[in-house]
Amino acid sequence: MTDTAPQTDRDDPIDRDGLAPGFWKTTRLEDMSGAEWEALCDGCGKCCLNKLEDEDTGEVALTRVACRLFDDSTCRCARYEVRHAFVPECIVLSPRTIPDHAYWLPATCAYRLLWEGKPLFDWHPLISGTPESVHRAGVSIRGATVSEAAVDDDDWEDHIIDEPV
Ligand code: SF4
Ligand code: SF4
Repeated sequence: MTDTAPQTDRDDPIDRDGLAPGFWKTTRLEDMSGAEWEALCDGCGKCCLNKLEDEDTGEVALTRVACRLFDDSTCRCARYEVRHAFVPECIVLSPRTIPDHAYWLPATCAYRLLWEGKPLFDWHPLISGTPESVHRAGVSIRGATVSEAAVDDDDWEDHIIDEPV
């Protein structure tokens, strides 16, 4: 890991320009600017997957069954700005809501990592300088999902994925 600002990638859909090098190590989540908060997302896409939760143990398993608005080829929400008109239950992650959601976010999610006091991985675009590094590291679900429109709820169990950490 380095404090040197990486070169930014103009194909990165998230604007990570102009942020202080290593800001996530010195700024608390609740003190981050909107741009810093948004830049933490690595684009893995896993928060758009449907999960199975054991009511007794609280154990959470992610499945490859993605939200109907998820674009598997770009690994992004196809209608992010207006998503709540189509998927009202889509969560809005913020410093205020992260305590309620950290438990089910993927173990590699930057928001969860920082909330748990852990460092980001070197493949994070803020460190690598390119959003492709998350795909190369094998932690994104680009090209690996099936749409919830194509899978019956009762069959989600057949699509549980392993979580790399
Ligand atoms: S799981 Fe976390 S890092 Fe991955 S896309 Fe969702 S918010 Fe971004
Ligand atoms: S509405 Fe968009 S951001 Fe929300 S879960 Fe679905 S694909 Fe992801």
